[in-house]
Amino acid sequence: MNFLEIEGLTKQFDETIVVDRFSLSVAKGEFVCLLGPSGCGKTTTLQMVAGFVKPTSGRIRLDGQDITGVRSNQRGLGIVFQSYALFPHMTVAQNVAFGLEMRRVPAAERAVRVVEALSLVHLDTFGDRYPRELSGGQRQRVALARALVIRPPVLLLDEPMGALDAKLREAMHIELRALQRRLGITTIMVTHDQAEAMTLADRVVLMNRGCVEQVGQPYEMYEQPNGRFASTFLGRANVFGGSVIDDDFVVRGVKLPAPSGAPQGKHDYIVRPEKIEFAEQGAIVRGSVSARVFLGNHWVFQVETPLGPMQTACPNSNPPSVGEGDEVGLLWDPKNVRIVAPEGKA
Ligand code: ATP
Repeated sequence: MNFLEIEGLTKQFDETIVVDRFSLSVAKGEFVCLLGPSGCGKTTTLQMVAGFVKPTSGRIRLDGQDITGVRSNQRGLGIVFQSYALFPHMTVAQNVAFGLEMRRVPAAERAVRVVEALSLVHLDTFGDRYPRELSGGQRQRVALARALVIRPPVLLLDEPMGALDAKLREAMHIELRALQRRLGITTIMVTHDQAEAMTLADRVVLMNRGCVEQVGQPYEMYEQPNGRFASTFLGRANVFGGSVIDDDFVVRGVKLPAPSGAPQGKHDYIVRPEKIEFAEQGAIVRGSVSARVFLGNHWVFQVETPLGPMQTACPNSNPPSVGEGDEVGLLWDPKNVRIVAPEGKA
């Protein structure tokens, strides 16, 4: 039995099913990210776990107890939602102490735990300030301290860094990950940012149109996407629809090498840009470079080929020898190709 068990969780608003039979087992201390495009049902799922939205059907069990019908304030979960703002008229310390007051924790213990929680998020000296006297990142950390101070069994985070700039987000990712590891607190976080999910999560739950598309560790999911959606939502991918015929994959009359043992018949063929290299000898397809983009640590090239536009990427180790307008050959190892059922469902 896992620590948190979600089984067949479904939410229907009027005629529309926005979360469809969502099931997930979360181990104690695990960090899970719900990832997916806007409107795919991530927040609704988290709100059902938090107890703010009543499921149409399904079950939630925490440490063996069925909490599906338990009121949100009785679940004792730590919650950091973007809309869950700090109380502006209370100091940082009062904000953090609020949940303890609600739980009737005695004043002396409250004071100790507030100091402890502020220290966890490196805001030891900020207790007397008001939220308006803090930066965005500091406010987010107060929100986190406020959730952690109650020592919740599960921490629920909904885009908690949505309002921060890229640099601050990156710093907060590292802090949050370290803190979560140190406290060993079971965490579920909603994000639509794939880099955020890959940085933070032990496991990513990829959602699309209310359904779970794929669950896996970030590296595994990146390397082995189960379909077109997963391959293009998590990173970039070249995806072609066609058929495996013997040892080849045939797209628009062009033969591409299929990985050994690929199942015959209609499939999608997926190859990541960084798995493709420029080659004069033995090129699989040829084309002309229509764009070259510098992204700091790597370059991305768009190449117009008989299969359509393709992308290739290479690390920024040397100045690139290929430029816009050049005719190039592209080569990749068939073992880096994924053959999946058309439109995803493997
Ligand atoms: P985002 O990343 O944009 O926050 P999300 O994946 O978190 O998106 P949800 O907020 O869970 O998505 O919404 C899923 C769908 O449910 C959306 O189409 C939304 O319009 C719909 N929805 C959410 N709440 C309600 C509600 N109270 N009544 C009707 N429809 C709702």
